[in-house]
Amino acid sequence: MPRACLLLVLDGLGDRSHASLGGLTPLQAAATPHLDALAAAGANGLYHAARLGQALPSENAHFAMFGARPEEFPGRGYLEALGLGLAPGPDEVCLLAHFCNAVAEAGCLRLWRDKPEAPSPGEAEALFSAVATFSFEGVDIRLHRDKGLFGVLTMSGDVSPEVTDTNPMVDGLFLPEPEPMAAAGRAAARTARALKAYLLYARRVLRGHPVNAAREKAGLAPINALVTQRAGQKKTMPSFRERFGLRPASIASGTLFAGIARGLGFDLLPARDTADPGADLAERLGLAARAVADYDFLHVHTKAPDQAAHTKDPLAKKAVIEALDAAIGRAAGPLLADPDVLFVVTSDHSTPSSGPLIHGGEPVPLCFHGPGQRVDAVRRFDEVAAAAGCLGLVRGVELPYLIVNGLERARLVGIRDCPAPPASYPGPVNPFRLEEP
Ligand SMILES: [Zn+2]
Repeated sequence: MPRACLLLVLDGLGDRSHASLGGLTPLQAAATPHLDALAAAGANGLYHAARLGQALPSENAHFAMFGARPEEFPGRGYLEALGLGLAPGPDEVCLLAHFCNAVAEAGCLRLWRDKPEAPSPGEAEALFSAVATFSFEGVDIRLHRDKGLFGVLTMSGDVSPEVTDTNPMVDGLFLPEPEPMAAAGRAAARTARALKAYLLYARRVLRGHPVNAAREKAGLAPINALVTQRAGQKKTMPSFRERFGLRPASIASGTLFAGIARGLGFDLLPARDTADPGADLAERLGLAARAVADYDFLHVHTKAPDQAAHTKDPLAKKAVIEALDAAIGRAAGPLLADPDVLFVVTSDHSTPSSGPLIHGGEPVPLCFHGPGQRVDAVRRFDEVAAAAGCLGLVRGVELPYLIVNGLERARLVGIRDCPAPPASYPGPVNPFRLEEP
């Protein structure tokens, strides 16, 4: 009986068919003998973390994979603030923010270079310092630096996260005006006004900043606007352990995944990113093999397929997938041979490596490998072969429930062994006292 689950998430793995790959997806076209062996020995299916056709970002998809309901999602801005080590209270709003290059046109701003040529660390620090604080109508604003030109904006006062993004995400599009969301109240209107005043202030400061005078002299695009998106706010919700009764840890890199881990009560075993995604994954699987005795649920994550897809080169994504498969071959052996481990492989969403979409709404392959798992006729790990598997189409929070079931700890629905029963059985029981003197 498996005691612990390793959930391997190959971020953005799903894709579409491409003429440059003979009509196959990058995963179908890639040579993946180790993932295929897993599929052949396990139970297969498709997974979508929300509704079919919805294009999800990693944060919403991971919240579902970790059992949280959509209404509990606190917004990416809040999660990244947690990942930076901030502790925003429920009276604060957090937004993703980054510097970019924009051009004025018809009295508005058009995003020209979402990612202008990187400044030196000292120059980036100078830009962040120049617009670090601002106040407007009782709203206090602070900009916190993450990496490069990216950071998190926190707004405190009578504020609301119900405001529009000002980052259009795609070069060539106009920046949207900060506005309260439809049907939002007065706090959202105030938040939008304060955000607008701050972004105008930031633009004035940036345009006159010596860093930009030097860049223009050197023929580089000026870093002359700040854009924001995905406002969030702290929400109260059960931790992963409270919800499922499993001790969780996450082996991942990046601010967002640090924030997701902190937000849902996972231990974070930080991983590094090098230029070699295969070596990075092998290192993460090695760390998982050493840590598996201490946890019931290990999330092992790599962003590499998603990043390759965003270059819009299906061949680059195929190469990354092959490198990850080789890493699984090198490093996952002890975990796959361990009868205590339920090994689950899937992805959080599809990322099409051609076309205009940022992410796609197709489901991704899912494989459960471990003692007691049904073995179906699927022999390959890919988006099409998986559809013939015995798991069928798994959606949203069904995935963590299937994992608890795979660990042979599924609670019989209705059993109350404690006041807040987790999905696993037994719960944290208070033993019956005899009350004898
Ligand atoms: Zn992506």
